[in-house]
Parts: sequence; structure tokens; C-alpha cells
Amino acid sequence: MAGRPVILIVDDEHASLAAMHEALTRRFGADYRVVAGSSGAEGLVLLEGMKAGGEDVALIVADQWMPGMEGNAFLTRSLALAPGAKRILLVAWGDRTASHTILRGCALGDLDNYLYKPWTPPEVHLYPLVNEFLAEWTRIYRPAMELVRVVGNRHSPRSNEIRELLIRHFVPYGFYDSESEGAARLLQARGLEPRPEPIVILVDGSALVDPSNAELSDALGGSAADHVCDVAVVGAGPAGLAAAVYAASEGLRTLVVERYAVGGQAGASSLIRNYLGFPRGITGTELAQRAYEQAWLFGAKYVFAREVVGLRAHGTERILTLSDGRELVARAVVVATGARYRQLGVPAIDRSEGRSVFYSTFIEQEFVRDLELAVVGGGNSAGQAAVYLARFAKRVTLIVRANTLAKGMSNYLVRQVRHLPNIDVRLGSEVVDADGPVRIERLSVRGPDGKVETIPARLVFVLIGASPHTDWLAGTVERDDRGYLLTGRNVTTTSANVRSPLSFETSMPGVFAIGDVRYGGLPRVASAVGDGAMVARQIHEYLEQEAGTLDEVLVEMPEAEEDLACPARF
Ligand SMILES: Cc1cc2nc3c(=O)[nH]c(=O)nc-3n(C[C@H](O)[C@H](O)[C@H](O)COP(=O)(O)OP(=O)(O)OC[C@H]3O[C@@H](n4cnc5c(N)ncnc54)[C@H](O)[C@@H]3O)c2cc1C
Repeated sequence: MAGRPVILIVDDEHASLAAMHEALTRRFGADYRVVAGSSGAEGLVLLEGMKAGGEDVALIVADQWMPGMEGNAFLTRSLALAPGAKRILLVAWGDRTASHTILRGCALGDLDNYLYKPWTPPEVHLYPLVNEFLAEWTRIYRPAMELVRVVGNRHSPRSNEIRELLIRHFVPYGFYDSESEGAARLLQARGLEPRPEPIVILVDGSALVDPSNAELSDALGGSAADHVCDVAVVGAGPAGLAAAVYAASEGLRTLVVERYAVGGQAGASSLIRNYLGFPRGITGTELAQRAYEQAWLFGAKYVFAREVVGLRAHGTERILTLSDGRELVARAVVVATGARYRQLGVPAIDRSEGRSVFYSTFIEQEFVRDLELAVVGGGNSAGQAAVYLARFAKRVTLIVRANTLAKGMSNYLVRQVRHLPNIDVRLGSEVVDADGPVRIERLSVRGPDGKVETIPARLVFVLIGASPHTDWLAGTVERDDRGYLLTGRNVTTTSANVRSPLSFETSMPGVFAIGDVRYGGLPRVASAVGDGAMVARQIHEYLEQEAGTLDEVLVEMPEAEEDLACPARF
């Protein structure tokens, strides 16, 4: 029995508890120890025992309506005893109050997902979802297949960067702390000496000592050597991946250049809950991986771990310079390089990104209802966020570094902020720390007098600006004063161009901007993907108008690729 991770079910209704225990034991019993508890209190005792016995808990399912301790309260308390377990709330079909509890619980990091009861037949309503939850847990805690092995110091930042890169690329790997016996055995078997730098052992047994991201990516076979394409997409976030899917599926030779890993900002999101068609949410890594594979199947190729550092026009050709000195020649370019939200640089805040800390207010109202929140920032976006959140929240503390709101905020917003009784403005103040027993509950704020005060805040919205990744386009393509790329009607400098730019086209004909990097772009995964779909159509239009007919473009393609890449034409 020892060694099998635990699935814990807690429900006060005896018949439903017994049925789920039986169903899960039947399906998962060989690999998991399925345990049942009939109340929150009993569940906590069971978890304490598991913790004391060193058992891994993979999944906790708790019924919402239990006397004494409701399911969501139990799941919150279970965090301290089994922090890695997936926490699932069991709710009744038709329970109208459930969505509020689920959304709030997910926003606060108290639970990961939900199941409905009754769930018969289990093949339809229970097993597929439990399988998914267990797969997510296993991916993190029980990676069995090791295509790559990393030997390194577990505290070394570079070791951790390499691990993150492998995770973001969905490469199954094993990590061996350099002090461990396993690491010594691995190195000895290959005649390698221990080193302070990380060593990566590949599936063919060859080893890379302290590889750069580019060396690692090339060794894993991730990068194409192509120099010529119809469309070069810069950036493999949701916008770039969507552009690649649609451009490649519509028959254009598509090359995606990404300086780091697929997924962009979305790839760093632990759960995207507001993307159409995923009511239970989807991790950013999973969404990105699916899109990456989809574009690849349609014929798109990738160059990873290279940054695009320059762009120039030569007749109808658009030439991109990569950080390794290579040049790519494209007929059209899609810039999908996104933006980076400025962080506070307070470790406790930065660590809670996506759980208690957000960089925009795309969060649903239900998440914030009746909570005490903090908004950090003194610009219009912070002011708008405070006003919007104050409609639902119990109290919003607006923390502003400047000594006056008028310095960064429009007049009308200053009036609104001042007018709302549940917005508390702290001027000349900055966040210096955050804490809470399990997740953020309080902020330490240093005021103008230098004194540090604690304020309650269950969610923190950091709105201190974003920087689009466009420095490499300075002086080449028109940007606004914050660096966002102007497109369509917003372009003012189309001097040599006889026609107006298409709606996603920048000041350089044939160069398009989509997603977060575009002026006016909405920072959402869905809008980035929508931009990607639409830009493919505009590239066709551009190529037809500016660089010959579409037929000519397709004729140039090798036959095999054309077959694979053109389902839209049949
Ligand atoms: C923590 C977090 C959680 C979020 N959660 C949600 C959510 O739940 N729902 C939602 O709708 N939105 C969410 N967002 C917002 C959403 O992720 C972004 O709006 C979306 O990712 C924008 O997509 P993009 O492709 O335009 O840019 P990005 O995702 O930023 O991707 C840009 C890519 O370009 C690459 N790149 C940059 N410069 C270069 C260069 N010179 N050469 C090559 N490559 C380059 C970057 O490495 C990156 O991979 C979240 C954002 C964050 C930060």
C-alpha cells in the first residue's frame, strides 16, 4: 500500500460517499489509495495522519454542503496539510449558488476545480475529469518518463531556469540535485565529473554542460534552420500561435520566432478561466502546447531561444535579424511580441501572481464581491480599476506612490475615486511586504512618514504600467509614446505608401501587429487569438495587393508541404 498517493473524498451523505469511493477505487485503486471521510473535521484528521505518515495526497474532493464545515472551508484548511493536492468542490446539479463559491474559491486559490453530483455514468461525468485532475498532479509531482535529465543545484537560479524551460516546452524531464546519490550515479555512468553548473543529459546519452537556452533548444530539435518564408511571426504567445495556426492552415509558409518558450504571458498563467469553451479553465502551458502542436501540424516551423533584434524592408522583402546573427527573409511579418506588466519587486507579491495578485481587472465581479482589496498604482488604469472594483468589493485601498492623485490620473477619475466611500486612498505610500497564513491576506504599506502599517487585502491589483516588447522596432515602425505599435487608422506616417494600412498593419507595409503589443489591444487571451485569426486574412489581402497573387505564393510551396498545409483550400 505504501507509496500510492491518496485520493480523499469527504461527504456527509453516506450513500453518495460510498458510491464515489467504490467508483474511484474500481477505476483508480491500483495506483491510488482512495480514502473516505464523512465530515470536514474527519477529513482534517485523516489529512493530519497522512501528513505524519509522509503520504502524498494527489486529490481531495469535498462536498460543498456539509454541516459543521462546508466543503470550501474544508478545502481551504486542507491547504496547510496537503499543499500540493488538487482540491475539488463537489456541487449538486442545479445548485445556483455554486458558481459564486467556485469562482471565488478559484480566485483565492482555495480550490482548483469542481465536480457535479450525481455523476453517473462515471465514464461520462466522473472519470474523465478525475483523470484530468490526476494528470495535472502527476505532471508536477510524479514525472515518470525522463527524456532529459538535469543535474544541478536545486537552489541555483540557472538550474531552475532550465527546469522552467523544459516544463514550458512540455519536455518530460527528471531533476537530480547535484548532492544526491542519483546524480552521482548518472554522472559516473557517463564518465562525467560533477560541476557547479547544471548538466543536461539528453535522451541519446549525450551531455550539455551549462547550455544556453539556444543550445538546449537546438539539442532538443526545437528549431528550424529555414531562412525564407511567406510569413514570419515574431513571438509565440497566444496571438503569435493563433496567427501561425491560421496562416499555416491557409497555405502560407510560416516561421515563428520565439525568444524563450511557447505561450508568452499566458504560458505563465496557472489557470485561464475565461477562455471560451473551457468552463473548468485550462492552464496556460496546456493551451499553448495545444496551439503549438496545431500550428506545427498545419506546417508552421519554429525557431526557439532566438530574439528578433532588427527589421528592415528590401523591396517587397521584410528582413528580420535574429540574436544569433541569422537573417530571415519573409514576405510579411506579424509582430506578436506582447508586453510585460511591471512588477512591484516585492517577493511575497511577485510569488502570488495569478492567485492573489493580478495585473489587470479581467477578473469576474464574483471573484471580488464583498472582499477587501488593494489596487497599486497612480495612473488612469489604477483609478479605473479602483472605481470598477469598488462596485462589488467591500473596500478598496488605492496605494499611490505620488503625493497627489492629480499627478497621474485624469480629473474625472480623481473625482470618482474621491466620491466613492469604500475607496481608501493612501498617497505617498508603497507596498513593502505581504503575508497571510496560506495566501495573501494583508499588505505592509510604508506611508509618507516612513511608518509601516498593515492593511487587509485578499486580492491585490498591480497596475503600475506595462512595457511592450518593441525596443527593437524603434525608428523602424511607428509606436505610441509608451512603445505600443500603431496600426490601421492610428498610423500617421505612411509616407511612401499609397494606400491606408489594413487594420492590423503598421506603418511599414506588410508588417502587422497583433495582441498585447498593438496599441488598443485588449490584454486577454481571447482577443490575442482573435487578432491572430484576423491577421491571416489581412496577410492574404496584402500579398495579393502588394506582392503578386496568392496563387503565385502557393505555387512556390513544395508539394508535400502544400498538401499538409492547405486543408482550408479543399
Ligand atoms: C500572470 C498572468 C495571468 C493572465 N491570465 C489571463 C487570463 O486568465 N485570461 C486572459 O484572458 N488573459 C490573461 N492574461 C493576459 C494574457 O496572458 C495576455 O493578454 C496574452 O498572453 C497576450 O498575448 P500575446 O501573444 O499578445 O503576448 P504574450 O503572451 O506576451 O507573448 C509574446 C511572446 O513574444 C515573445 N517575444 C517578445 N519579444 C520578442 C522578440 N524580440 N523576439 C522573439 N520573441 C519575442 C515573448 O517571449 C512572448 O513569448 C494573463 C497575464 C498574466 C501575466
